[in-house]
Amino acid sequence: MGESVEDVSAAIRSCRLCAERFAATRTAHVPAPVVRLSARAPVMIASQAPGARAHASGLPFDDPSGDRLRAWLGVDRATFYDRSNFTIVPMAFCFPGYDAAGGDLPPPPVCAATWRRRALATMPGVRLMILVGGHAQRWHLGTRSVADAVGRWREAGPGVVPLPHPSWRNTAWLKRHPWFEAELVPVLRGRVAAALAEARRGAAA
Ligand code: SF4
Repeated sequence: MGESVEDVSAAIRSCRLCAERFAATRTAHVPAPVVRLSARAPVMIASQAPGARAHASGLPFDDPSGDRLRAWLGVDRATFYDRSNFTIVPMAFCFPGYDAAGGDLPPPPVCAATWRRRALATMPGVRLMILVGGHAQRWHLGTRSVADAVGRWREAGPGVVPLPHPSWRNTAWLKRHPWFEAELVPVLRGRVAAALAEARRGAAA
């Protein structure tokens, strides 16, 4: 039998592999893995890495980016944070620190290399993967850029939806690509609703 999601979550929470890397950033913070994995959820959010706010609170997407993501998904906070609905699997479980421009540094590759396959193996029931941002899209689809992945979202198949990061930094991109809200978001909402409804039916049977 494979590892349980509880075992993998506990192992990730105790991980300090990036201690030196984070100590050398402007914030000189220590690793604080934000882990919200679920073996029951039908929908996986493959995200980038926690921001400074999630680093402090331990709750991912508890910010305006999370509000925008939930609006795209068509779900409220209670639905989003219910582990029987969503499992959140970032490319790095810790806040990576800031770059010189004040943006978040990229997720350290060692995190996905160390944990990603182990975490995914505990979630065989995932039927819809939401790939948020270029790092998750590169890992899962092999795409080179967000524009590439999101622009060709129909080719990803019914079980995968690539999204731009919901950060305010992408507001200009969203304005330049009105098809995203007009065409992709309605399909995304329909797929999320269908996956959640199917899982509820399966749990009730
Ligand atoms: S980012 Fe990942 S690999 Fe690095 S310390 Fe956090 S959990 Fe460990």
